[in-house]
Amino acid sequence: MSDLIELRDRIRVFTEERDWAKFHDPKSLILALVGEVGELSELFQWLPADTAATRAHEDPLHTRAGEELADVLIYLIRLADVLNIDLADAASRKLTSSSTRFPTTQFHGQAPEKI
Ligand SMILES: [Mg+2]
Repeated sequence: MSDLIELRDRIRVFTEERDWAKFHDPKSLILALVGEVGELSELFQWLPADTAATRAHEDPLHTRAGEELADVLIYLIRLADVLNIDLADAASRKLTSSSTRFPTTQFHGQAPEKI
């Protein structure tokens, strides 16, 4: 069993034990997910960009970032479950698609430009 499936099943049990599935419509889960991304963003909001990577490896920021990333992942997995989307398969397909869209011969060291 994959880690994502195991987490999905644990989240299902956690939700069912509390009778919270009735609150887990897609809109509410998306708002919760965005809220957790906001909490993650807040940790880095005013850090200078040139020191953020170094500071993120030091506590307390490292621990807090891990906690907020976990919240994001949990809501993402729950949303995918409610939408009946195989998240690992969807991510794998997206990476395959991105590999075709951005070949290394053209994009090595180059950020794609939005047109
Ligand atoms: Mg949080």
